[in-house]
Amino acid sequence: MGSVVCKFGGSSVADADQIKKIGSIIRSDTNRRFIVVSAPGKRHKDDQKITDLLYLCHELAAQGLDISEPFHIVRERYLEIACGLKNSLDMQALLKKVEQRIISGASMDYVASRGEHLCALLLADYLGAAFIDAAEVIKFLNNSRVDDITYTLLKERLGEEGLYVIPGFYGSTEKNEIRTFSRGGSDITGAIVAKAVSAKVYENWTDVSGFLMSDPRIVSNPKPMREVTYREIRELAYMGANVFHEEAIFPVHGLNIPINIRNTNSPDDPGTMIVDKRDTGGGIVVGIVGKTNFSLIFIEKLLMNRELGFGRRLFEILESHGISFEHAPSGIDTMSVIVRDDQLKGKKRVLIEDLKKILNADRVEIENGFALITTVGEGMAYRPGIAARLFTALAEVNVNIRIIDQGSSEINIIVGVEAKDYERALNAIYQAFC
Ligand code: ADP
Ligand code: ASP
Ligand code: MG
Repeated sequence: MGSVVCKFGGSSVADADQIKKIGSIIRSDTNRRFIVVSAPGKRHKDDQKITDLLYLCHELAAQGLDISEPFHIVRERYLEIACGLKNSLDMQALLKKVEQRIISGASMDYVASRGEHLCALLLADYLGAAFIDAAEVIKFLNNSRVDDITYTLLKERLGEEGLYVIPGFYGSTEKNEIRTFSRGGSDITGAIVAKAVSAKVYENWTDVSGFLMSDPRIVSNPKPMREVTYREIRELAYMGANVFHEEAIFPVHGLNIPINIRNTNSPDDPGTMIVDKRDTGGGIVVGIVGKTNFSLIFIEKLLMNRELGFGRRLFEILESHGISFEHAPSGIDTMSVIVRDDQLKGKKRVLIEDLKKILNADRVEIENGFALITTVGEGMAYRPGIAARLFTALAEVNVNIRIIDQGSSEINIIVGVEAKDYERALNAIYQAFC
């Protein structure tokens, strides 16, 4: 039959009632044997995430300040969950130990990891499942990459039968120090476990019934995607569809394990299937997403196209200033580089001087206040008419397209617009394709 790995995100473990829903999801299919959990997330819009509170505790402790206020909120949350689940664990003692470790200077990663650690202990107890500490099985190499030994360790510990709960988000280094993934990293843990057990499917349970075709905060009621490819999802996640951590694709992609994004609050919805290949009969465009806060570095130099090594020198200058770039659309005598605003903080003036001097450029300008919108779909860029439809949609709502970047990938078309036009543009493209 094949086993199923289920990762439950922060909202799915936000309180005891949510965790009870996990119980019925797990019990309804005996193949659901490997469970990865996040730390309790928000119960409502203005609530706080446990992970954020733990980071705050660490920051205060590092400055020798009192952590009792934020830690009190952490404690209350866990005690409330434990009480609601009629847990048999000594939560008070576990929390006391964590508090003491924070005060005595535990590392930031250690402190943050306790969110999932405690949550997994609670869930394992509630489900009567075996708890596997991620520190013992998810191993990082010194360069922060996941060590392949992880898969052997997981296989050794995860048996042919039984139910297992593994905390997401962290592992440990060669020196056995706790190390976390980047934010949202429990998705990666789930994917690693799915690879280790060669799962039939990797279910990622969250608070939406799958990937929506656009950002629900900007486009009203976007349609859910039924099927989307790994490549498409990577483009969408990179540009801000943050339902699923973009790096969580890699462990499962090679093995062709489908990822099913599901809704804990609506478990009968089929959700979105992330697969290797999809039938484009259902529509070429799968999603339209975007991000704001980009700057455009614009460089003009006559006959730039004939100058050997111009691009290399340009990127070397950016590298020497520690600036990473997103895209670099170019013309004959012009090159533009799109970077995130935060990359330029405090560096603008010197960067312009360097670019002018070293490249001997005729004109160098940096403009901020850009938004990028990417329209994603396998094979779309080679379909005649798609680009025309996109540009017409923007023209009809009077949006001036400042950058077009189709790149060499046939999977998306990126347009850059002024931030003030962002929401209008996103809506217009959505209406044109969905
Ligand atoms: P979890 O805690 O379960 O990992 P996340 O908060 O990381 O959940 O991701 C789910 C959230 O992603 C949704 O509640 C939604 O607000 C947001 N989101 C952003 N873009 C999209 C999109 N295109 N489709 C669906 N949800 C999206
Ligand atoms: N709890 C961590 C975070 O908030 C990891 C996760 O939820 O995946 O980023
Ligand atoms: Mg998430």
